[in-house]
Amino acid sequence: MIRALETIGIGLLFASALLLAPIWIPVGLVLLRLEKRRFGKIAATLNCARCGEVLGREAVALSDKTWGVTVRNAQQKHPGARLRMIRSHDAICTNCGLRYRYDKEERTLIAFGFAPDEDGARGAREDLPEDPGRKPGLG
Ligand SMILES: [Zn+2]
Repeated sequence: MIRALETIGIGLLFASALLLAPIWIPVGLVLLRLEKRRFGKIAATLNCARCGEVLGREAVALSDKTWGVTVRNAQQKHPGARLRMIRSHDAICTNCGLRYRYDKEERTLIAFGFAPDEDGARGAREDLPEDPGRKPGLG
């Protein structure tokens, strides 16, 4: 009896999740867009921890472009494979190539260094400097 109720409960939960998908998917997309706008504003005023230049929204755009190249490269390298990739950066300094991750709780961009294993940056920006092999101080 309890097992039947559990099965019905799980079925109802699943059905309601499907029925509410037209609501929660757009809400999720809007929240994602708001989050991106938020760290775009932060990037527009934040100075790079390495070179001191203002990151600007271009840093977010470069990160998007670089990530696109990284994903395309991975898809070409493993055609037909189902890739599970976690985006490693949210902004890249257009002057020196230092990468930043958005910290939702602190609402700031945190410098974490360069990623020599990702060749996307080289594909997106030919003039990025080579990896200096050191991590700058976190900001
Ligand atoms: Zn920089």
